[in-house]
Amino acid sequence: MGRKRSSRIGNTSSFKGSGHRSLAKDGWGIRGFNGITLVDFPGRMASIVFFGGCNFRCPFCHNPGLVLPSLIEEQKEIPPSVILEELDRRKKLVSGVVVSGGEPTLQEDLLPFLESLKALGFAVKLDTNGSRPQVLKEALKAGLADVVALDIKTSPSRYPQVTRGTGFEAVREAMAVVRELAPHYILRTTLVPGVVGRKEMIEIARLAMGAPEYHLQPFRNSHTLDPSFSALRPYPPSVMEEMAHILEDTVEKVVRCW
Ligand code: SF4
Repeated sequence: MGRKRSSRIGNTSSFKGSGHRSLAKDGWGIRGFNGITLVDFPGRMASIVFFGGCNFRCPFCHNPGLVLPSLIEEQKEIPPSVILEELDRRKKLVSGVVVSGGEPTLQEDLLPFLESLKALGFAVKLDTNGSRPQVLKEALKAGLADVVALDIKTSPSRYPQVTRGTGFEAVREAMAVVRELAPHYILRTTLVPGVVGRKEMIEIARLAMGAPEYHLQPFRNSHTLDPSFSALRPYPPSVMEEMAHILEDTVEKVVRCW
């Protein structure tokens, strides 16, 4: 997702229990948990669940530990029932759960997991790269996500080159799905020099027309999936501000995450 790496990622030391059914079939199951975040679920104190596995290979990704199989394997899988028990204990403190990754929609048993979160009374925010619009549609039709955060990596024509995964068509479909079905949705772009410039942002702004909320994230050059991106200097605030202005012409609200 290109989101912030948790300080507790892969830290399973506070969990007990085993022998639970794994979620990992297409994906790699739960590989990280952060008990509390004040910034990842707008308006709520939340916990974050991180699923391992992703079908994109964005070179600027700063969560390679949730993407590259050799690194995922180094992190112990956490059984879903252990997460649910932990969340149940936290109910007085947190009201939301962010389901992130990696790419959570790759998990075959994602929907039953979301059902369990809703049964516990949590609001759910689902982070996705948009590559599995059908899963998104099923989750939203069943009322299993209150907020969807959908990444827009770059302009459509550059998608295969940038994500080293599928083209933009699935993401375009995911945009239509969230527009139609999500109670609330957020579009997100990480401002990576050479990946998103003024030209790409103008195209993105057209695509995002009418979106209720758009988050612009600065590129951070530490722990990138492609080590050569660590040498890339992030945009200065003045350039990021210019990008925000371009978006402000077409979306309702731009959140500057810097
Ligand atoms: S979609 Fe890209 S940035 Fe997000 S987890 Fe996958 S590789 Fe990383």
